[in-house]
Amino acid sequence: MTTTVTAYAAASAKAPLERTTIERRTVGEHDVLIDIRFAGICHSDIHQAREEWGEAIFPMVPGHEIAGIVEKVGPGVTRFKVGDRVGVGCMVDSCGVCEPCRSGHEQHCLEGNIQTYNGVGKDGEPTYGGYSQKVVVTEGFVVGIPDGISLDVAAPLLCAGITTYSPLKHWGAGPGKKVAVIGLGGLGHMGVKIAHALGAEVTVLSQSLRKKDDGLRLGADHYYATSDPKTFEELAGSFDIILSTVSAPLDFGAYLNLLKVGGALVNVGAPEEPIALNLFSLIGGNKILAGSAIGGIAETQEMLDFCAEHRLGAEIELIAAAEINEAYERVLGSDVRYRFVIDTATI
Ligand SMILES: [Zn+2]
Ligand SMILES: [Zn+2]
Repeated sequence: MTTTVTAYAAASAKAPLERTTIERRTVGEHDVLIDIRFAGICHSDIHQAREEWGEAIFPMVPGHEIAGIVEKVGPGVTRFKVGDRVGVGCMVDSCGVCEPCRSGHEQHCLEGNIQTYNGVGKDGEPTYGGYSQKVVVTEGFVVGIPDGISLDVAAPLLCAGITTYSPLKHWGAGPGKKVAVIGLGGLGHMGVKIAHALGAEVTVLSQSLRKKDDGLRLGADHYYATSDPKTFEELAGSFDIILSTVSAPLDFGAYLNLLKVGGALVNVGAPEEPIALNLFSLIGGNKILAGSAIGGIAETQEMLDFCAEHRLGAEIELIAAAEINEAYERVLGSDVRYRFVIDTATI
C-alpha cells in the first residue's frame, strides 16, 4: 500500500514551491521507510526546480540532503532497524552491476544513477526528494548518521559534505598538505571544515574579506581576497590542492599558477560556459585540472563517521517550509550562512 505524505513541490519551472501531497511506494523487501526530520536546500535544488539544467519532471519535490529516523523496514533489510538515525543524499538507486557500481562508485553508474528527485525510479515512477515528510529508499542507498552529529546539521553533509570530502580524500588532503578552498558558501564552508579536520593547512580564496572571521572560525588558517591581484603574486606555487566550489567563470590559468608542482585544481562547481585554457599552465609543473561528483555510498558513510568523530556538522539556518521560496532568493543572493535546512515538521 502506498503512503500519502505532505510535501513541498514546484508545479512547473515558473511556479513557486507549494504544499501538496505525494505518494510514497509500498515498503518492499529491501526498502526503508524514513520519517524525514530535516532537509537541506542545495543550490542545485533551485537550478532543477527552475528547469535550468535541461528538461525536468514536474511536479518536482526537491531535496537531496535528507536526515531522519527509520520508521519501517522491509523483511529483507539487514543494515537498518526501526528508530535508526539515517540519511539519504543525491541518489536513491543505480544498476548495481556495472563496474563503477561494483567498485563503490554508484554516482558514476554507467546506466546513470537514479537521482533522489527529478529522476525516474526502477518502478517507472518519478522520484521525489526530501522536502516531504517521508521517503522510501532501498537500503543500499541509505546511510547511518552516527550519534555524534545532530540530524539538522547532518542533513547538508549528504550533499555538501560528501561533495567536498571525496575530492579532498582522493587528492590526499592531510597533515603537511596545503589546501585552498575557492568560495565560502554551502560547499566551501564544509570544504574548509573537512580539510582542517583532515589535518591540512587551509586557505580560503574568496572574492572579498567579508566572511574572513567566519572562515577562520570554521578552521581556515589563512584568508585571501581574490579581488586583490597581490593575492595571486603572494600565493604563487603554494598549494597541493585547490578545491573550487564556485560556479562563476574563473581565470583557471591564474589559479593553476597557485599550485605546487604536481598539484591539483579540483572543481565541484562549474561555470555554465566552456572555459578557455592555455594548456601551458598545466604542462609547466605537471599540474592537474580535475573534477569530482559527490561520492559513493560507502564513502558517504565514511564521511559521516569522520564528521561524527571530529564533531563536524554544517553551519545552518533552520527554516520552516513556508520560507522555502524566500530562502531560494537568499541562496541566489549568497545571503545564507551557510546552508538553509528545512524543519520538515512544518511541511
Ligand atoms: Zn546538492
Ligand atoms: Zn551501475
